[in-house]
Amino acid sequence: MQTERLTVFDVEKDKEALLRAAEILQNGGLVGIPTETVYGLAANTFDEKAVADIFAAKGRPQDNPLIVHVSDMEMVKDLVSELPEKAVICAEKFWPGPFTMVLPRGEKVPKSVSAGLDTVAVRMPSNPVAHELIKVSGLPLAAPSANLSGSPSPTTAEHVLFDLDGRIDAVIVSDKCDVGLESTVISLCCEPPRLLRPGGVTLEQLKEILPDIVVDKAVLAQPEKGKPVASPGMKYKHYSPKARVIMLDGDFEKFKKYVDDNAIDGTFALVYEGEEHELSVPCVSFGHKGDEAEQAAVLFDALRELDNLGCKVCFARVPKKSGVGLAVYNRLIRAAAFEVISL
Ligand code: AMP
Ligand code: MG
Repeated sequence: MQTERLTVFDVEKDKEALLRAAEILQNGGLVGIPTETVYGLAANTFDEKAVADIFAAKGRPQDNPLIVHVSDMEMVKDLVSELPEKAVICAEKFWPGPFTMVLPRGEKVPKSVSAGLDTVAVRMPSNPVAHELIKVSGLPLAAPSANLSGSPSPTTAEHVLFDLDGRIDAVIVSDKCDVGLESTVISLCCEPPRLLRPGGVTLEQLKEILPDIVVDKAVLAQPEKGKPVASPGMKYKHYSPKARVIMLDGDFEKFKKYVDDNAIDGTFALVYEGEEHELSVPCVSFGHKGDEAEQAAVLFDALRELDNLGCKVCFARVPKKSGVGLAVYNRLIRAAAFEVISL
């Protein structure tokens, strides 16, 4: 199949390309779309064949559910069997934005969207192109990240094409994704509410509205093999470059000594901006120390860069676990398949 390139930077000026994307979706096709988190691979939520095509194009395990993207609260009502009061309060505070709520699934949503669960994950994106596309197509869009399953999520149209060119109907060429990591996911189908995946909306912000929210164990640690997990996506080795990534937990002096002592051919370091020149191995940086929003925005690009440069083993700095840093840590530890060395 030939993947159409549709350029949409401005929803008014580039209306024609936007309408073409809507038409493809209405006809059951797959379109790579920009959002403020990462690029999504979108299809009509209510079209079971199109939803099956998403899983096939990505090579996504069937037990990993999709997030449904909406442009208004009326669409949400069409997707859920019940809208809890807490969901309405969270929507007012965090939507549109990088925030997903797991809610009781309505009958109209195909089971395959939710990987057989009786819940459905819903998000209202703030990216103007994504928002307008949902609105003009009139469709809630089921969309996981637009990468091959397991590889780092895409934050540009080029990343999408690198993974999926020829496997999807179209991609919207647009601005780079602002946040750079997938949305925060919480479940409101349990008491107390539970953080399943950290993202651009932070745990600290959530606690202001949901003071009793708990953090699912899978956020920071490896889920036990064979045990059910609340957020299926968290159990996979994920977001990872082809290289073996090892996180080194310690200050920069210790980090430098360990890297210098253990470097072999093909060893790289993933470090903060400015640290590159102090190491004996080639480096890729992922933002400045202390600027977690910047780290989030560039992390996946940095992981792809390691592959491009032929990295075999990568020693990585350990991000701070608060604010947006919790999300950066959560993704990097999965890229590292939970391999952390304490220095
Ligand atoms: P992706 O869009 O590729 O980041 O994947 C969406 C992720 O959202 C999945 O991997 C799950 O971890 C989570 N998710 C989606 N739907 C549900 C659900 N019904 N219950 C729990 N987690 C969900
Ligand atoms: Mg994904």
